[in-house]
Amino acid sequence: MNIGVRREIEPGERRVAATPESVVQLVATGLDVSVERGAGAAAGYPDGEYAKAGARLVDTLDIERCDVLTHVRPLDAGTVARLAPGTITVGLAAPAANLPVVAALRDAGITSFALELVPRLSRAQSMDALTSQALVAGYRCVLEAAMRLPRFFPLYMTAAGTIPPARVLVLGAGVAGLQAIATAKRLGARVSAYDVRAASADEVASMGATFISLDVDTADGAGGYATELAEDRAARQRELLRPHIEAADVVITTAAIPGKPAPRLVGSDMLRGMRSGSVVIDLAAESGGNVEGSVPGSDIPIPLDGDRGTITLVGMKDVASAMPYDASRLYAKNVSNLLALMTVDGEVVPDFTDEVVGGACLTHDGIVTHQPTLEAMS
Ligand code: NAD
Repeated sequence: MNIGVRREIEPGERRVAATPESVVQLVATGLDVSVERGAGAAAGYPDGEYAKAGARLVDTLDIERCDVLTHVRPLDAGTVARLAPGTITVGLAAPAANLPVVAALRDAGITSFALELVPRLSRAQSMDALTSQALVAGYRCVLEAAMRLPRFFPLYMTAAGTIPPARVLVLGAGVAGLQAIATAKRLGARVSAYDVRAASADEVASMGATFISLDVDTADGAGGYATELAEDRAARQRELLRPHIEAADVVITTAAIPGKPAPRLVGSDMLRGMRSGSVVIDLAAESGGNVEGSVPGSDIPIPLDGDRGTITLVGMKDVASAMPYDASRLYAKNVSNLLALMTVDGEVVPDFTDEVVGGACLTHDGIVTHQPTLEAMS
């Protein structure tokens, strides 16, 4: 069966759905892999390495003839229109935000797998692109903060005086938040963190950071995710967070609720109590923002009250794509591991009774198989 790897078409997207390493794995399972020339160039994978790994390089991917199309960004309607009925697609789909494309996949008889839907089971960890890309994002946002902060992260004791470590506050301690904590710790910052899930206190402590306990009920939902706080509890949470935000040199926010806009953790009034030069990084800027006023892809200087200087509010955008080599390396392994799970004798034959395969399926045989998406479409 022929697996197609395309050059991503979304402007600014630098990742690729297969690397030479993942091509070796796909070829070893008996699949033929066609890679569009230049597909990995922006991520740091030259065409020659794909050829050495056993892929066939093509100038333009013949999308109409792919048995399986792999991709990073959700497919657009134009690409879906070119797929033959029965084609299998594997990649990110952002179904809640792309209902018309989901309808097109259904109507075209495509078997689509959305990597966001891979169940978060131990067995499926190697296919979990949300985790792999959140890890990249958590690491990257600390580097972005460190580059903007006019101070050191680590403690320095020098002949010219002692420089205290920067204080970093991480709000939301899921995959990205824990990685942000680890990265800030490695850079020598003094790190504290808060999350609304009960289990997060131990997780934060295990990373060597100080957990901030607030007098707000925990909000644990199904599958290890948080649930949305009612507005009165959210307002209380913001009030209790205020002194911690004002004491921080860097605030990194990563809070998310599956299928909902990002919870608002920081109001603009809370920013104005910070010290001049402080940096606030909103990793959730693209999904509504944890911080009031953040704009994806923008640095916004916020003047402080009383001529006290400014702070910088950074809305992150396309974070994983900013580290395309390793983001692709992890993502491509997620894709090839899912394909390997479905491959028998060189044929991709999904067994929908397997909870990983069935869980990751978005459309098949003319129906939308993912129940929440189906409900959103009706
Ligand atoms: P996520 O991206 O949905 O959310 C990020 C974090 O924001 C979460 O920790 C959440 O609790 C937090 N949050 C939400 N609302 C908040 C609020 N009002 N205030 C503060 N924090 C808030 O979550 P995620 O990073 O994808 O992971 C969530 C959970 O899934 C974690 O428990 C993680 O350990 C678990 N997980 C399991 C697997 C697996 O078993 N394979 C894989 C990945 C993650």
